Order: sequence, then structure tokens, then C-alpha cells
Amino acid sequence: VKARVLIIEDEEALADLIAAYLAKEGVDVAIAHTAEDGQSLFRERGADLIVLDVNLPGMDGFEFLAEFRAESKVPVIIVSARESDEDIIMGLSSGADEFVTKPFKPRVLVARIRALLRRSRMAGDSLPSTTSIRFGDFTLEPENYHLARDGERVSLSTREFEVLRFLALNPGKAFTPADIYQEVWGNEFGDVSAIAVYVRRIRSKIEADPKNPAYLQTIYGHGYRFNSGTDS
Ligand code: CA
Repeated sequence: VKARVLIIEDEEALADLIAAYLAKEGVDVAIAHTAEDGQSLFRERGADLIVLDVNLPGMDGFEFLAEFRAESKVPVIIVSARESDEDIIMGLSSGADEFVTKPFKPRVLVARIRALLRRSRMAGDSLPSTTSIRFGDFTLEPENYHLARDGERVSLSTREFEVLRFLALNPGKAFTPADIYQEVWGNEFGDVSAIAVYVRRIRSKIEADPKNPAYLQTIYGHGYRFNSGTDS
């Protein structure tokens, strides 16, 4: 399986250079030139590691990282021209795994990326939180916003993924739409009827027969539950 690296760097030439080195190593690379694009790209296609510039137009790297760490443990290497100790400490305490200062040799960065990927893969084997969930032909990677059918990515919106993830992490348990809303949106006062819409959209993407769902099942008068297909 190819490692996937997301580069968030506004200097296009530098981003392309890092990407070229990684591609040569057989890494699947994606590039975002802003933190905002990086967020949506990560949610669209996932990543095993992020290379993050600090000085970016709009949201900067540290702001990105603070939000990112609320949703993912995927390793992050900060690449920055700021050399002060304060920046290094801030980067590491805000959840970065490595800090590389510019200018750097691409080969050195690539070596660090490989080491970090190796480390996180080894850790992933023993941590249940990073284990992927399998059902039918599907593999769901909870922290990477990644759902694949037979190895091919299934495109879900962020919220669709979060609804499916919550249910899939709690197989066999029934939840009311209000439970799901509170869990995924984090507040109790929203439009709970939206859940039915999300469920319909998710079913259209994962169910062979959406009207007779095998995985995302309706519990009449109560709500929904996830059936992984192994316990029914
Ligand atoms: Ca920059």
C-alpha cells in the first residue's frame, strides 16, 4: 500500500520539489497551497502524514494544526523558515511530530518523513484507535477520513463520513437521530431531521439496496444502528 503524504506549502516551487522527491520514493502525494485547501483535501482523500508550512496566507500552520489535532492523530512535520526556539516549542506543543527549518536538503526531509511513517505504522499496529474498520468489501479508516470499497476510495462529505464513522465505531448499538446529531455536530440544538438526509446519502454510497440496507439499518420508532455484517 502506497503511503499518502499531503504537503501544505504556499511556495509552489518548494512544494513541487518535495513532491517530486516523495513521488520518486513511491509515495502518493497531494499538494495544497493554503491551510484551508489542506483541510478539505485531507477530508476528501485522507493522508498518512502531513508536511506543513507555518507561514501561509490566511490560516497559518499553527492554527491549522490546532484544529487538525482535534480530529486526527496523523503525524505532522512542520517546515518553517522561522528559526526561533519559541516557534519550535510552539510547534511541538501544538501537536507537531517533527520540526524542520528552512532551508533544508530535500533528502533530509524525505528521510524524516520515512522514519515518521514507519514509526506511526508500528504504533498503528498496537493502537486500536487507529485500526481500520472492515465491513463487507469496505475499509473505513476512522482518523484519515478514508472509506474504500475493494481498495477504491468512496467519496463522502465530511459530515457523511462522521455520521458513518460514529455508527461504525459502535456496531450493533441503536442511536436516536438526536444521539447522532449531538455526537457528530457537538451541540443539541440543531436540526435533528438532517440526520435522515445524511443516512439516505450514506446508504446511496455503501448499500447494494438502499431501501433494504445491510449495514446502516433503521430501528423503527428509535433510530439507526450499524451492522458490520458479522453479527447479524
Ligand atoms: Ca510559506
